[in-house]
Amino acid sequence: MRYAISGASRGIGLEFVRQLLARGDTVEAGVRVPSEARLLASLAREAGNRLRIHALDVTEPSSVLTFAANVNEAPLDVLINNAGIGGKWGSLMELDYEDMARVMETNAFGPLRLSAALMPSVLRGSTRKILHLTTRMASLSENNESGVYGFTGGAYGYRMSKAALNVGMRTMAVDFRDKGLITAVLNPGWVCTEMGGKSAPMRAEDSVQGMLRVIDGLTVDNSGGFLDFQGRELPW
Ligand code: NDP
Repeated sequence: MRYAISGASRGIGLEFVRQLLARGDTVEAGVRVPSEARLLASLAREAGNRLRIHALDVTEPSSVLTFAANVNEAPLDVLINNAGIGGKWGSLMELDYEDMARVMETNAFGPLRLSAALMPSVLRGSTRKILHLTTRMASLSENNESGVYGFTGGAYGYRMSKAALNVGMRTMAVDFRDKGLITAVLNPGWVCTEMGGKSAPMRAEDSVQGMLRVIDGLTVDNSGGFLDFQGRELPW
């Protein structure tokens, strides 16, 4: 199967590439600065033509279009919108609106922009799947004093951007259901990466292994969900 993934230079995105190549899939990997994606380049040396590395900044329309022009050459089975940033996590009084706009551009608009650009090849693919990495911190019903992952409040930009992504995904699910598109937002868990930090309890290997199982099992009937890495439904 042929996959495309954004934010493949490190963390969860890089682990997706590693596991997809290990099981024999082909990957179109998008990274902001290809010359700096050394770990990905080392995978490419072994994978040969099953891994192509492209420049991709999901906040730049021209970059997304160039990536899409290359990927749309052939049918694409699965797009994984993985790229994301955390931004500043301060309190209401400390909000930096330029930073929040950047977070929104990356986490909410980026996945929509990339999905639209790659839709032609996804709809020609054998599975027609578009997944988006979200967070449980974007759950409205869990945003209360008990918090998730043991902390409450703050992270306005991050939470808002992923909640916006969740609504965008759900709208996409409805709009493209008659074309057979299968889409979902996936919470990877709290994962030890640059974003997740060193105290995160889960390894990227385990999170990605779980998410790939979930992605493989998705059908039109359960399209449009908010799921964790084990396929459990999360509260919106
Ligand atoms: P990392 O910070 O480790 O990696 C983020 C990746 O996104 C990097 O490859 C980075 O590229 C890329 N990226 C950032 N901005 C852009 C952009 N504008 N265009 C293209 N690529 C970009 O994060 P994780 O691997 O931990 O997170 C992956 C996804 O999972 C994110 O969407 C995140 O929100 C989500 N997530 C992660 C959790 C965790 O605990 N780790 C928990 C919940 C959700 P570069 O190397 O160039 O900076």
